[in-house]
Amino acid sequence: MNNKVVIIGCGNVGMSYAYALLNQRSNVQELVLIDLNKDRIIGEAMDLNHCLAFAPTRMQIKAGDYSDCRDAKIVCIAAGTNQNPGETRMDLIHKNSKIFESIVKEVMNSGFNGIFLVATNPLDIMTYLTWKYSGLPHNQIIGSGTSLDTARLRYIIGDRLKVNPKNIHAYVIGEHGDSEFVPWSNASVGLQNIKDFLNDEELNKIYIDVRDAAYDIIERKGATFYGIGMCLVRITNAILGDENSIITVSTYDKDNNIFIGLPAVINVNGVREKVYVNLNEEEEEKFQKSIDVIKDAIRKI
Ligand code: NAD
Repeated sequence: MNNKVVIIGCGNVGMSYAYALLNQRSNVQELVLIDLNKDRIIGEAMDLNHCLAFAPTRMQIKAGDYSDCRDAKIVCIAAGTNQNPGETRMDLIHKNSKIFESIVKEVMNSGFNGIFLVATNPLDIMTYLTWKYSGLPHNQIIGSGTSLDTARLRYIIGDRLKVNPKNIHAYVIGEHGDSEFVPWSNASVGLQNIKDFLNDEELNKIYIDVRDAAYDIIERKGATFYGIGMCLVRITNAILGDENSIITVSTYDKDNNIFIGLPAVINVNGVREKVYVNLNEEEEEKFQKSIDVIKDAIRKI
């Protein structure tokens, strides 16, 4: 098997992912684009191919169809509706769950046995449905989860403290949505606890800015896509490079039979294992609230 990635849904998110894959030294050898809008993917493939003369690596790029999924290592689904200003991610649930049923079945009919990488919202629900519709083991199903929220958190703290975001060891966990939260008791800058730098009021303001970032961006430019594109590349590289990297993805929670954002070790098999998070009482309550929101949404489908 080549390092082949198929993107289903080549709108803002799918194409930001594709463009970021091409610009970073990913070891993707083949990239296939699938969308309802056939003309668009032909145009997108042409446009990306024209980058190759100046790209850091070679890559075969084409517009394709579901038969291309058969020998793919990763199928990323970014198809579906995004939020209008004022809409929550959960408001998309009915439209996007219908779309997912047909997409996942078509992918599985090709004989696919790689890793699904899900970007469509409401993220944890779409990841769960991908697992259900595909019948694949849960380690082969990864949602982008709170990887984007974690990236936003690290950027905001790093900017505030004038420290490289890579040295901010803080995570957003739970639902990729309004009930997500930051377990501050585990957050540090280098080796020093974050509370040595920022007080509770400042931390809460940062949390709200992270939680509401998508609303703010959508209000201003209609959609968010570069950030998630980079997160999808980060997860792709962890898979294809067999990195055993820890990323906050949406992964299976056996106790609750849901997918939810937690730090997990990612390698060539998908999710190797979740990383234990030691939560205090208040954080446990927040985590439980997030679990309830996801369970409730699944029940309503
Ligand atoms: P978009 O409208 O730009 O693109 C969606 C694409 O999906 C379109 O090209 C459309 O033709 C295609 N599509 C729809 N139904 C399809 C089907 N059945 N088969 C194949 N293709 C189909 O939307 P976008 O801005 O790219 O957002 C896509 C999704 O990503 C949304 O649900 C959005 O909320 C989500 N999103 C997630 C994150 C995250 O952190 N996970 C961040 C931003 C956006």
